[in-house]
Amino acid sequence: MTATIDTPLGQQLQQAQPFLWLNPAYKASTDNDRDGLSITDIRQADLRLRRFAPLLKRLFPELEASDGIIESALLSAPALQQHSFPELPGRLKIKADHSLPVAGSIKARGGIHEVLCHAEQLALDNNLIDSTSDDYLKFGHPAAKQLFSNYEIAVSSTGNLGLSIGIISAALGFKVVVHMSVEAKQWKKERLRNRGVTVIEHSDDYSAAVAAGRAASDADPNSYFIDDENSPRLFLGYAAAALRLQEQLAEQQIIVDAEHPLFVYIPCGVGGAPGGINFGLKQVFGPDVHVFFAEPVQAPCVLLGMQANDKEHPESVYDVGLKVATEADGLAVSMASGWVCSVIEPMLSGIFTVTDNELFRNLSDLFQSEGLEVEPSAAAGFSGLHQLINTDSGKQYLQQQHLDTVINQATHLVWTTGGLFVPAQEMKKFQQRGAELAGL
Ligand SMILES: *Cc1c(COP(=O)(O)O)cnc(C)c1O
Repeated sequence: MTATIDTPLGQQLQQAQPFLWLNPAYKASTDNDRDGLSITDIRQADLRLRRFAPLLKRLFPELEASDGIIESALLSAPALQQHSFPELPGRLKIKADHSLPVAGSIKARGGIHEVLCHAEQLALDNNLIDSTSDDYLKFGHPAAKQLFSNYEIAVSSTGNLGLSIGIISAALGFKVVVHMSVEAKQWKKERLRNRGVTVIEHSDDYSAAVAAGRAASDADPNSYFIDDENSPRLFLGYAAAALRLQEQLAEQQIIVDAEHPLFVYIPCGVGGAPGGINFGLKQVFGPDVHVFFAEPVQAPCVLLGMQANDKEHPESVYDVGLKVATEADGLAVSMASGWVCSVIEPMLSGIFTVTDNELFRNLSDLFQSEGLEVEPSAAAGFSGLHQLINTDSGKQYLQQQHLDTVINQATHLVWTTGGLFVPAQEMKKFQQRGAELAGL
């Protein structure tokens, strides 16, 4: 097989300029069950999160209002649409995962679900609960903490996955080890250490931190490794978002059908979070939803992974001369999850790449117009609006899918994926950087 670097796509990636890639394997109507996963698995993940809701409400007072359900709002953004996207055909919505409680990012979905899967299994095996219909407040009793203190949960992270896993695991009483890759922000490490989490700092990138964390955990039979590169449990936690979004759209009387397509733009790192949501949305909305991922121009690892013939062994972005150098720490990944790429192969519409300058401009525009504060990674999705509407490949997609006649009735949903816990000082710096770029 030719290495990607020797292909026109490889040459284009190497330029590190923003563009929209259309997935040639996309099929509007496809069998949505993939690799043994179906809507039933997503419903089960959602039910699990509901079983644990009373416990989560007790552990995390911020979940009082939502009765223990960790969910974000579906927001309108009229000022942003008017100011930054006046020509956008259709309406702009924001899925506000930047303010997801407990973990402060989209990782609250997958990360917390996987830790709860593991805790539930241990509780059943050790007769802490009789069945999944038992009283889940038992997970907060001293006997549960005693049990979980014998077990370790380990994870590798660029920051946000570690926060999510660390916070929930420590609250349940597990020992927790988080392997942080080089781009992880200092405040994310401190926040975890303050909760008694062991943070190991690696001087290498994310893929290397995953390999190191996996090896250390595998050597200890009482350690459970949350493997961001190969995890159906993470994936299904993310996918459950689709059921919640379906309800929110219905509540707001937003129709999704062939005449009213839904376009979704989600920032992408290793692929798990956006892949899970892509999978969930396809189960719910079939051909009427069109999902695009956003990756930094320096770290388009899923774009490389999606076009590889051998999805099991994706190329790294270093192989096409890129450096992973980006302020978007949540997206700073050199190699995709091959498993995710193979699962979503026919479901993903395309991927657009984004420069760091765009991230900061988007972040600042969002704050100026709507008062929303997100981290740089979380601002990547907004660049997809321009890519879909104004570029040749965007127009080509709309034509191929026969969407040009209905695009005025579309809903464009930008997923903002993290930011709640960013210290005020850092947030100010991000906003200033964006404002300077916009020449304000
Ligand atoms: C992790 C993360 C993503 C992407 O998720 P992946 O599963 O790595 O693809 C997007 N935005 C933020 C803020 C993140 O932390």
